[in-house]
Amino acid sequence: MTKTFGRADDNDVKYSERDISGHHARVTLIDSGNFLVEDLNSTNGTFVNGYRINRSTISLKDELRLSQYKIVNLIEIFGLKKDNTQQPKSDPKDYTQEFDTLKQVWDKYQKDRIAITKAHQKRTTLVRSGITLAPLIVWYVLQFIVSENSAASKVIKSNYIVFSVLGSTIAMLFTGNMSPIEELMQLDEEFRVKYVCPNNQCRTQLGNVPWQSYNNQGKCFRCGVKYSKQ
Ligand SMILES: [Zn+2]
Repeated sequence: MTKTFGRADDNDVKYSERDISGHHARVTLIDSGNFLVEDLNSTNGTFVNGYRINRSTISLKDELRLSQYKIVNLIEIFGLKKDNTQQPKSDPKDYTQEFDTLKQVWDKYQKDRIAITKAHQKRTTLVRSGITLAPLIVWYVLQFIVSENSAASKVIKSNYIVFSVLGSTIAMLFTGNMSPIEELMQLDEEFRVKYVCPNNQCRTQLGNVPWQSYNNQGKCFRCGVKYSKQ
């Protein structure tokens, strides 16, 4: 299920505010409570937890906002059931439960980074060996096409090295441009907007510091809410 947001008439959710673009954003329900959010090149941006994004998967715990003020109520728009399991806090500074869920965010980020890098290495090796071999195959086939003892045959035979150097040079040039940078940037962007202080009034990005370090520290360095019982 996909919903589009914007000022134009053909949107599923229409806004009249001038700071919302004609076609502002698109949100797809992936599974219960998880969404893919895509900004459609809006002028004033789409924000997750206060941070501008191009594309990001989010859950109901994340805050989605269009431009400066328009908070999107995904439960209402997608007709989902409200999660009533959350108890009101007996201690308003206790965020230990919310902080626990951040461990998954951190672990998944580490795992995905490794997976992307490995997949890229595999692709590069395949392409590189394919290109390296191609001129050698040409060289080999030429032996049969060009009649033996001809001048051309001698030139080809004596230039085995040239053919193999040619192959590996092209391979290096070609695969030098292959990089997982875009995939990694997308992953980083998603991680940055999710790995934030769970206190809605704070939402400070927790950077590249391991979850375990914050757990040891026990509280948010900015707003001071409790992360662990220490
Ligand atoms: Zn905080």
